[in-house]
Amino acid sequence: MRIPFNKPYCSIMGIENIIDSICCGKISGDGKYTKLCNEWFQKKLERKVLITHSCTAALEMMGLLADLGPGDEIILPSFTFVSTANAIILRGATPVFVDIKPTTLNIDENLIEQAISSKTRAIFVVHYAGVGCDMDEIIRIARKYNLYVMEDAAQGFGAFYKEKPLGTIGDLGCLSFHETKNIISGEGGCLILNNPNFIERAEIIREKGTNRTKFFRGEIDKYTWVDIGSSYLPSDMISAYLYAQLEESDKILNHRIKLWNLYNNFFEIYERKGYIKRPYIPAYCRHNAHIYYILFENFNKRCLFIEYLKKNKIHSVFHYVPLHSAPAGKKYGKIASEMDITNRVSDTLVRMPLFYQLDDEIERIFEVIEKFFKEAF
Ligand SMILES: *Cc1c(COP(=O)(O)O)cnc(C)c1O
Repeated sequence: MRIPFNKPYCSIMGIENIIDSICCGKISGDGKYTKLCNEWFQKKLERKVLITHSCTAALEMMGLLADLGPGDEIILPSFTFVSTANAIILRGATPVFVDIKPTTLNIDENLIEQAISSKTRAIFVVHYAGVGCDMDEIIRIARKYNLYVMEDAAQGFGAFYKEKPLGTIGDLGCLSFHETKNIISGEGGCLILNNPNFIERAEIIREKGTNRTKFFRGEIDKYTWVDIGSSYLPSDMISAYLYAQLEESDKILNHRIKLWNLYNNFFEIYERKGYIKRPYIPAYCRHNAHIYYILFENFNKRCLFIEYLKKNKIHSVFHYVPLHSAPAGKKYGKIASEMDITNRVSDTLVRMPLFYQLDDEIERIFEVIEKFFKEAF
């Protein structure tokens, strides 16, 4: 039997919620279930959260809220998904890429200060695999130079940095509910408003630049166009599905952590033999088992491994073509450090299948890998 890389977890309750949302007669944005999701996060994270149709949308809102524009420079890692950089480029600002750390694969905080210029406005950090960046140091630098800190916590649902949920530490944060993430609604995301100065404008930007959200709350008697904006709301049918996943999130997270630990124990011996490296989790982090990855010594060995698994009907994948070396990254971005770690990790990383329904099949994955290291390595 084929083992895929990912299989979206199906919430039966989510299907019932979708039917209910349709029967309620309001399936556009901010209906019953979007409100329930907003409230769920408000309770969990103790701050205002706006559900969006994707994490990409929430990242774009960050760029709008920070009033980024031509001439502005934003520091971010090159080892991330394109949406982090697009949010900057869409405002006409320039992404300035720095390298990551070989331990957590997150932005190297020691390279940030030398990348800052008089044009720098913000630092966009990415918590890779739900493992937190060194936020204390990043916040310290940001304060010193009066920069915003934006957290791309797309992979960070249910993960913590020093007991603070990822996405709640910078000025703004965002999560993704894309089907490849831990908690899903197909496409989906949210914006976390940690700095209260952004709340009123965030509601306006999300509603096409109108103050309709205030109107719905009965705070004003008609709504009007007051600012620039776009349509960043999900349909309530999507929120209906998301709400079921949120309600099941502990169960989903616990099972992922169990699988993650099985992988981590299995690979220990191969790390000791020097064949691979396992993920590094700093003591200050509680991760969410979003990704289980291993790092090979070089590109060829990584390719052999992926091919061998593929021949045995197991789908594993590499991660991130570095943004600084992609055509759009070269055209719009700037490099502010050597990129040795980013390039090496991109060449040598493999992500293992990890999803809720993966259970006893993990034993077959282990058998195949044992054979690989015996025969092909
Ligand atoms: C998944 C992901 C995104 C994009 O999320 P969408 O919800 O698909 O828009 C952005 N940044 C990172 C780091 C991601 O992993």
